[in-house]
Parts: sequence; structure tokens; C-alpha cells
Amino acid sequence: MEVDKTTIYQYEEEFRDTIATVDDKGKRIWIYPKKPSGYYHRWRIAVTVVLLSILFAGPFIKIGGQPLLLLNFFERKFIVFGQVFWPQDFVLLALVLITFFVFIILFTVVFGRVWCGWACPQTLFMEMVFRKIEYWIEGDANQQRKLNKAPWTWSKVGKKTLKQFLFFIISLLIAHTTMAYLIGTENTLEIISQSPAEHVAGFIGLISFTLLFYGVFAVFREQACTSVCPYGRLQGVLLGRESIVVAYDWLRGEPRGKLRKNPTVEIATGDCVDCKLCVHVCPTGIDIRNGTQLECVNCTACIDACDDVMLKIGKPKGLIRFASYNSIKDGIQKLITTRVMGYSSVLIGLIIFISFALLTRSEIEVTLLKVPGMTFQRTEDGYITNLYNLEFVNKTFEPIPIEIKVESPDDAVLEKVGEQSLVLPQEGLLKSVYFLKMPVSSIKEPKTKVVIGVYSNGKLIETLSAKFIAPVNNASQWNRE
Ligand code: SF4
Ligand code: SF4
Repeated sequence: MEVDKTTIYQYEEEFRDTIATVDDKGKRIWIYPKKPSGYYHRWRIAVTVVLLSILFAGPFIKIGGQPLLLLNFFERKFIVFGQVFWPQDFVLLALVLITFFVFIILFTVVFGRVWCGWACPQTLFMEMVFRKIEYWIEGDANQQRKLNKAPWTWSKVGKKTLKQFLFFIISLLIAHTTMAYLIGTENTLEIISQSPAEHVAGFIGLISFTLLFYGVFAVFREQACTSVCPYGRLQGVLLGRESIVVAYDWLRGEPRGKLRKNPTVEIATGDCVDCKLCVHVCPTGIDIRNGTQLECVNCTACIDACDDVMLKIGKPKGLIRFASYNSIKDGIQKLITTRVMGYSSVLIGLIIFISFALLTRSEIEVTLLKVPGMTFQRTEDGYITNLYNLEFVNKTFEPIPIEIKVESPDDAVLEKVGEQSLVLPQEGLLKSVYFLKMPVSSIKEPKTKVVIGVYSNGKLIETLSAKFIAPVNNASQWNRE
């Protein structure tokens, strides 16, 4: 009977009912992936070196004297590419994050989980650092299995201790880098150069991060991608049949069958020789020949393994390759789909909006509010006064001298309470109180609109408006008194 290869997998989905890393009793199956090698793996090493260098150097890279990235949640201060964002910029920061997520969604819709395999710190550290140390100390998958089953000898104790020691040191290094991104390099250096008693919170933070990273990379491992990562969980809705993912060409590979040296009977088989090397190298323990799965982090190890097999048996490479479901089924790869165009339009719109907001963003945030509980006062010399609180946030890294003037009405006068000069401290907040005076004779209504200009070095940087409150019985009442 003729097998319809285009639909063969649509009805064989039972493998999705179980996870490769958990047995039927719910017990963890430890994965021993075979050491990967090949064309894509070499590229991944190069990309890892670049990305991890940037990651570790990041806290020390300065733009205009400021860190490349600082995510100080404790002081609610965020620096992205040297641009500081304060809580007042929350909307802008939220928009930047939304834009980033839309970009990731768009990228995923078109190119699948390239992020997971090539740029995600979890995969980079797990597969390219911790796993490499494991291969170096304990050998390839089979040797690791053997070592774990072997009785405890001095050699085994030595290997295990060295491995765990290196895992701990690297976790310590990652923890310090994480802290530097959270509280800055200066504060992190202060914590590590002084007694823990002087920085109890910082010290506990460092130890907690170290244990967390050690736990993730030494024990939890691929479970972070297959069971916890929300981005991984989203693949079901993000990926479509046009998304380019690591895929097995079932049209070419099926029906799979062992390579027979002296075939006596001619049996038509596909190119897959069922060697299962693609399964043995998979760090999440799946069989990509079953089709796209949530557990696949697009690490390309199976591509390299299969290409190697194809070369050996004299078949063209690419039985497993980057391809979309439809491109394998129909032989045509469509990159621009309605979905892609929709996400692209949203992304372009967001980028334009954020660029405009960033370019026009004021370096000083000023809030003008009437002092609570106060309405107006009348002075002996015929003025009505209102009291205002002015709050300034200097978002720059330089002190800024400020001058406040009334723009309108002409006869309103602004007087600062206390010290007259106004210099906003760098990255700081300043609160001051002002009297606004208007002659009774010029007040025509109970609420007069007042416009106030904020100047720095003679340049108008912001205008504010406020309501000046006067008694309901208008000025003529006082003029008569
Ligand atoms: S590595 Fe290639 S040939 Fe071997 S089982 Fe996997 S798909 Fe088939
Ligand atoms: S199926 Fe292939 S690409 Fe996906 S995680 Fe396994 S080895 Fe990596």
C-alpha cells in the first residue's frame, strides 16, 4: 500500500503525551547527550565566545560614563545603552519592553527558536560551558554513564569533586555579573572587597544567586527550557507551518530503515538509516523525527550529527535542517505571510513611536502641585498668594542650574521659599516651595490660569500650567475695603 508521506506524522502524535526526561513513574530521566561536533557546532562556539564576552564585559562597558545596562530594581533606576530611565519614565520603559517582546515574537514566527539555541544565556552556559566541562572531565555520554554506575573510587571522587568545584566557581562568576547588572560594578566591588558583615543584604544576594545558578546548571539543566521557561511554553502559539525551525525532512527520510550491507531483496527505504544519532546528541532527549516539539531548543546538534551520517553513507546533507513544515511538504519557503506582515507593522509603529518619545524626552521632570490643604492668602499690600510645591527630577548625570519664571499673566510674581538658587543634583530629586503672588486688582476670576517656564542656562526647557485660586467674591470686593 502506498504511504502518504505528507500526512504520516499528523496521526502519530502519542509522543507528545510524555516528556523525554520523565519516566512513566514520574521520575527524572537523566540525559547524557552525546558530544556534538560539526559545522553548526563550530559556529555556535564562535557565537558563544562573542556573546559571553559581551555578557561578562557588559557591566564594565560605559557609554557616556554610564553602564551599557543597569537594571537596579531596588532603587528603581534603569540604564539601557547609557540612557537612564526613572520611575517617571515607566511608560517609555514599558513601551521599550513591549517592542522587545514584539520583536522576539516576530523573530520567532519567522525563524523559530533561534534565540534559544544561539543566544539564550541558559543554553549558552548549559551546553557550551557546563556541558563542555563535563565532557572534558568525565568524557562523552557513554563514559559519563559508566562513571555514574561505577563504585566510588579515588579517581571517581576526584573527577566529581573537580567538576562540582568548577561548576561552583562559574556559578559564582555568573552571580557576580548578575549583581553588577543589578546594582552596578562599583557597588558589587564594594561588597566583595569588604567584610560580609558590612553588606549583609548584598552578601546574601550573591550567595543566593550562586546557589541558584549552580542548582540550575548542575542539577536542573534542560528542565529549565522544557518545563519552566515561559518563552518555550509560548512556542505552541508562536510557531506556524511557515516558521523556519530545525526540522526532519520526512519526505526524504521515510520510510526509515537500517543500512544493509548486502541486501538480498531490494526494499525501498528513505535516507534515514535509523541510527538514532540525532536522538543521542539531543540535550533535551527528544527525537526530532517525530516533528517539531516544544522541547526542541534549536541547538542544531541533530543537524550536525545527521549531516555526518549522510556524508558517510554518500547521501546529500540536510536530512535534518533549518526548514519550515510547508517548505518540506510543498518545496516552497514563504517568509512573508499575513501574520508576519501584521507583526512587522506593529513593530515598525512601536519603533517610530519610541524613537520620537526618546528624542523628545525631557532631561528634567517637573511636577507642579498646590500645597495640600491651602487655598489662598491675602497680604497687607494688596496681593493674593497661592503656595505651590515644585518637584524636580534630574535624569542626567550632571548638576543642572534652574530658573523659574512666570510666563503669564504678566503681573504674577513667583517667590521661592528659602534658599533662592536652584541647582538640581545629578540623578537626583529636588523639592521646593514657591509663593505665587497676584495683585488683587488684576484678578478677574476665582481660578486664573498661570503658565510657568522652567529655564536652564537661559533656555526654556519646560512649561507648566497651574490654577491660581482667589476668593469667589472677586477683586472689587477688596478694592472697596
Ligand atoms: S541521524 Fe539522520 S539518519 Fe540517523 S536516525 Fe537521525 S535522521 Fe536518521
Ligand atoms: S531536536 Fe535537534 S535542535 Fe532540537 S534540541 Fe534536540 S538536538 Fe537540538
